[in-house]
Amino acid sequence: MLDILKKTLKTGSQTTKYPQIPDFAPAGFRGKPELFADRCTYCGECVTACPPGVICLSEKNGDKVLTLSYCGCIFCGRCEEVCPYGAIKLTEEYELASKTKDDLITSIRRKL
Ligand code: SF4
Ligand code: SF4
Repeated sequence: MLDILKKTLKTGSQTTKYPQIPDFAPAGFRGKPELFADRCTYCGECVTACPPGVICLSEKNGDKVLTLSYCGCIFCGRCEEVCPYGAIKLTEEYELASKTKDDLITSIRRKL
């Protein structure tokens, strides 16, 4: 027991103070995908490429709507890879805790 205590004191703390102090993801981390409405042409390439099918293209009230649900996103980055216009990018954000499913849905729209 004393040996363990000595080792622990020698090693020092190996944990961070997160969440009291923000902890940033390393460069290249694949986090929350973000949609850019000004670049999207609603071509549907990302919809076809998304393995779990969490991106949907639809029409509502005369608008084209692109919806992405973070609920089933596996952060694979396929959507970013296939988008010809750079309209979807993975960010380094990883904090996605939410009280409702609706908070985990993002969408962009354009008039037809
Ligand atoms: S995000 Fe890119 S791939 Fe997806 S619909 Fe928009 S332009 Fe097409
Ligand atoms: S990162 Fe992967 S799972 Fe998430 S929306 Fe893009 S293609 Fe779909």
